[in-house]
Amino acid sequence: MSSLPILVLNSGSSSIKFSVYEAADGQRLKLHEGAVDGIGTDLGTFWIKDAAGKKLVDQTPALPTRAVAFALVADALHSGDFPAPVAIGHRMVSGGPTVQDNQRITPELIDEMEKYTAFAPLHTPIAVYIMREALRLFPSIPNFVILDTYFHRTMPEVARHMPIPSEYAEMGVRRYGAHGISYESIVYQLQPDVPQKLIVAHLGNGASISAIRNSECLDTSMGLTPTGGIISGTRTGDIDPGVLLFILRKIAETTPNSTEAADKLETVASKKAGLLGVSELSNDMRDLRDAIKTGNAKARLAVDKFTWTIAKWIGSFVAELNGLDMLVFTGGIGENDMDSRAEICAGLGALGIVLDATRNNVRGKAVISAENSQVKVRVIPPAEDLIIVNHVVRLLSK
Ligand code: ADP
Repeated sequence: MSSLPILVLNSGSSSIKFSVYEAADGQRLKLHEGAVDGIGTDLGTFWIKDAAGKKLVDQTPALPTRAVAFALVADALHSGDFPAPVAIGHRMVSGGPTVQDNQRITPELIDEMEKYTAFAPLHTPIAVYIMREALRLFPSIPNFVILDTYFHRTMPEVARHMPIPSEYAEMGVRRYGAHGISYESIVYQLQPDVPQKLIVAHLGNGASISAIRNSECLDTSMGLTPTGGIISGTRTGDIDPGVLLFILRKIAETTPNSTEAADKLETVASKKAGLLGVSELSNDMRDLRDAIKTGNAKARLAVDKFTWTIAKWIGSFVAELNGLDMLVFTGGIGENDMDSRAEICAGLGALGIVLDATRNNVRGKAVISAENSQVKVRVIPPAEDLIIVNHVVRLLSK
């Protein structure tokens, strides 16, 4: 049996997650996983576990920059303690309008994707940095970009097109969606019985929902950027454009430079809004649930906005799908927060969705709908790294 270790790199705005899979002969065996978290702080975390969950590295380093963080990962991978990868798969949220296919990374491709940083402003800078570093540090093996937008490429024009003047549409401004690798992993895990009419709610720090017909994306809540769609941890989600104009004009009163003003608006809409903005407490669902128990009204309002908006999107996607066979919850909140799942489904009885309160008291994979529910409701953790490995193996064999 030939050995085929594949490294998966998945960067967030303040973290780099990675895993090594053995992918020989159709098998997919996770050998190691690890993460560096807390980039930009004096007390980060850096850990690596083996397949049995034993911690091989467990440190709390200062992580002033992403360069320091990625150097830790690269040094560990070069130490000889781990199998040398034959290829690397990089998760990328958006490659812009010109990079739509998963493919081998070249310096020119990175430059092209970087031009569209505005399409995923929190994610693209660190992702392109890591791609350049990986080409430099692992010069002899192929690197591939695996895009979140790839799953959403099947959306019809009516779902992709934005109601804006064509000159902007021609610049690539349209709905791309995000979390596509997670959605792809849910469809993959449901095989061979993927329901015809499926809605998946990926509820994490970033939250989105997708309508999936015959295993293909029909529509998704996130738009040009991950700031659109459902309210999430620190992002507005869809909002009256007049609100952004009002805030921009307020900012411009003290910030006459228009680029600086736009940057400040982006910070408001992407980093200070959402659950954090409404609650004035936290973007973390666990903190909000604790605060609700002590009677915190702002935390209650933030969470109500979250669950109410998701129920609204589910209703509109049922209309688009002309029915619904299955609803799947995934992501940190979707997998772990039974209260969010119950609150979202509470008003959806008219759509044939009925939860079983006992079954819903679960973390991880489970069916949580009642026997009399016309729609099956499931919790399925995403398997994003596995999907990235599958794409890398496919591209390697080309
Ligand atoms: P990311 O989008 O950064 O990958 P995750 O999918 O890990 O985020 O989800 C993070 C969210 O999941 C946070 O809001 C966190 O509070 C929530 N979460 C994680 N565990 C629980 C739990 N046990 N109960 C409620 N919420 C949880």
